[in-house]
Amino acid sequence: MDFLNSILANPGLYVWGNGMKEARADGDAKLKSHLLQLEKSLPKAKQVDLEKPLSIVKRPWKNRLAIKLLLIAIFVSALFFLFPPFYWPANAPVSSGFLFRLAPDSRKLRLEIHHGIDIAAAKGSKVNSTAIGLVIEAGKNDELGNYVSVQHLLGFHSLYAHLQEIDVAKGSIVIPGVSVLGRVGSTGRATGPHLHFGLFFMNVPVPPGVALVFHSLRKRIIGI
Ligand SMILES: [Zn+2]
Repeated sequence: MDFLNSILANPGLYVWGNGMKEARADGDAKLKSHLLQLEKSLPKAKQVDLEKPLSIVKRPWKNRLAIKLLLIAIFVSALFFLFPPFYWPANAPVSSGFLFRLAPDSRKLRLEIHHGIDIAAAKGSKVNSTAIGLVIEAGKNDELGNYVSVQHLLGFHSLYAHLQEIDVAKGSIVIPGVSVLGRVGSTGRATGPHLHFGLFFMNVPVPPGVALVFHSLRKRIIGI
């Protein structure tokens, strides 16, 4: 009778199939008649079909969790399409992808882990920040050449390497599409001009292609 009590306590709610199955299994004719009376006394309740217990579960479509999640996903996708979380730092195709690749300067075939992507932009072309952020490093070393590192929100930071020149200083605030971090070059361990772009979450490298997917889509559809 817990089943019936729960219905009586919540007349506006839904009658789930399992309870009906139990009632039928018990052969409780009394309960069936209670339910039929209940059905008649509730003008707003859905029709109860005792032969098809599962069919009585008719939730309003907008209350379904799957629909809610789908609507949220569409809304977030539309928002990220208009305002991508990460922008391409240079306007050129990728020449070397994330993770495994052949070492560029090795005569033997040697696999190495590539913590970023290489963008085949022409020497001297502008390098933009991938997202709004704060320059935390602007320096030079043997591996990266001239490089800039930018801290973003939510634990992300990005790295731009092999630059010909650096046009920002540590502590600068940078905005994608507005601030120029530097120019593409081939300083450090690079065989030719390109931008090495790395993206990190909590200092762990993440595949930039995945992060850039919304901007890629926007560039493909509306060209910017
Ligand atoms: Zn690289």
